[in-house]
Amino acid sequence: MKILVLNAGSSSIKYQLFEMPDATVLAKGIVERIGRPDACLKHEYNGNTHQQTQAVEDHEEAMAMILGTLVDARIGVLSNIRDIFAVGHRVVHGAEEFTGSVRIDERVIASLEKYADLAPLHNPPNLVGIRAAMHKLPDAKQVACFDTAFHTTIPQVAYMYALPYEIYETYRIRRYGFHGTSHRYVTSRAAQIMGKRPEQVNLITCHLGNGCSITAVKGGKSVDTSMGFTPLEGLVMGTRTGDLDPAILFYLADKGYSVDQLNDLCNKKGGLLGLSGQSNDMRNLTELAQAGDVRAQLAIDIFCYRIRKYIGAYTAVLDTLDALIFTGGIGENAPLVRQAVCRDLTQIGIVLDPAKNEAKPCKNLPLNTDNSRVKVYVIPTNEEVAIAQDTYQLLE
Ligand code: ADP
Repeated sequence: MKILVLNAGSSSIKYQLFEMPDATVLAKGIVERIGRPDACLKHEYNGNTHQQTQAVEDHEEAMAMILGTLVDARIGVLSNIRDIFAVGHRVVHGAEEFTGSVRIDERVIASLEKYADLAPLHNPPNLVGIRAAMHKLPDAKQVACFDTAFHTTIPQVAYMYALPYEIYETYRIRRYGFHGTSHRYVTSRAAQIMGKRPEQVNLITCHLGNGCSITAVKGGKSVDTSMGFTPLEGLVMGTRTGDLDPAILFYLADKGYSVDQLNDLCNKKGGLLGLSGQSNDMRNLTELAQAGDVRAQLAIDIFCYRIRKYIGAYTAVLDTLDALIFTGGIGENAPLVRQAVCRDLTQIGIVLDPAKNEAKPCKNLPLNTDNSRVKVYVIPTNEEVAIAQDTYQLLE
């Protein structure tokens, strides 16, 4: 059974075609710069890559380009587009309604339109991708997988902000959390690696990529997470500030900053980029810091300190902790960050073994010392596989 996984953003569509149930990747790629004359398709198939630049007006055209590529006699992997049994869509916001992945029908689409207001940058392009896929693949079944779904188990005591209660009732302002597909995927992989069922494990999962979030997982379920009403809250990220005293924004507004400027400051100009003044990319910052750049080192230090603080908080949330999990581009590839995060966590039972942490390969292996009460793992995330598996299981 062939399942196509789509992740539609405002100007791009990422795709991966899987053969299920083994989740073998048949092809994958991205169309970037949708809406521009120099849009670009990058396509990987059977160990080869193909790149093509052409004008792509909208998401419909991008979908047509992707499907045309998948059945192309030279670089395609399908003989007929009808071989695609189902499409799994990444959708950022499912609000309080969607607690798991669902078959897409008119009712689901109406809900997604309603929640566009909660995730104005993400849900509208997700919907455009869904409509384009439904239009171009009318026979395929369509499934939505939500970034927020895994976090719908967070109890009210953790998801409420201490604003007047009517603000929650009127606007549904609460913690939703994001990166749920990734936190759920690494939770189930961690349980598997430890020879347990997800219900048997308590974890702290750190997803550290361009966006960063950390989740407390109790009995396989999310019970708290650092991203909040939007992905801005919590950890320091590539360009997002993470936690901030909201009064700073009132103060800056008083000084003449507009809402748009404040939004930009917090989402696009903050984080590692703002602190270092140079880059949002951990690889660059690590090199700069090693060459003696003080601001790059400060940015890395603050990034790691914030994670440590959350680990402490989430240890208090969980009654016992079985493992600390690192994932995402930084979590998987930056031993220096893991080392700095785990420093001095001995009192909560986390003792990292420096040699195992630096070793290659280190993925899916315990990186803690033998006497560490808590295990430490790097587990590569794979949101596309999780979406393909959900789609398969829902339709089977
Ligand atoms: P996204 O959230 O966009 O999916 P990724 O999960 O790919 O992003 O993570 C991107 C981050 O991972 C960047 O900050 C990048 O510098 C960092 N990264 C990737 N490889 C390494 C590495 N070898 N060392 C340090 N950081 C790395």
